[in-house]
Amino acid sequence: MANRREIVLYPDPSLGEVSQPVGEITDDIRTLVDDMFFTMYEAPGVGLAAPQVGVHLNIVVYDPSGKDEEKKPHVLINPEVTLTGESIVSKGEGCLSVPLEYRADVQRSSSIHLKAMDLDGKVFERDIDGYEAIIVQHETDHLKGTLFIDKIGRLRRALYDTRVKKWLKRKEKQA
Ligand code: ZN
Repeated sequence: MANRREIVLYPDPSLGEVSQPVGEITDDIRTLVDDMFFTMYEAPGVGLAAPQVGVHLNIVVYDPSGKDEEKKPHVLINPEVTLTGESIVSKGEGCLSVPLEYRADVQRSSSIHLKAMDLDGKVFERDIDGYEAIIVQHETDHLKGTLFIDKIGRLRRALYDTRVKKWLKRKEKQA
C-alpha cells in the first residue's frame, strides 16, 4: 500500500539541490514512485518530483488528465528534456512546494523532446507539446533545483518572499 509522504516546502534549501541519476530500479524506487503518485493525487496536484518529498533522485511523476477524465499516470526516470518550441507564457503556474497557493506566469517552451526511462528500465523518447510539455518542464526543473519562482521577475519574487516571511512568522507564533 502506498503512503503519503511529506511535501517539502519553500524556502527549504533542499529544494535548490541538484538530484542524482537513478542507477538500478529497485523495490525501494518502485515504492517511492507509488508513494509519489499517492501524495500527488491526494494533494491534489498534476505533478511531483522526488526532491519534493526529500529524495534527491531524478524521478518525476505526473498526470495531465483533466478532472473528470480517466487518469493518465506517467513516470519519468532520469528524464532528459530538450526544448524544441518557441517561448510561450505558461499562465498561472503553481507548485505543491510553493506555499500560500502562489501562482505566477512563467516563460516556457511550447514543445519539448523527452528521453527518459520507465519503471521497467526501458528507455523511451517522445515529442510533447501543450499542457503536458509545460508540466514536464516544471517537474524536471525540480531535479535541477529550480522552482518556477526562480523564473519570475525580481520584484515579483521579492514581494512573494516578503509574504512567505510573514507566513513563517505566523506559523512560528502558533507553534
Ligand atoms: Zn513544482
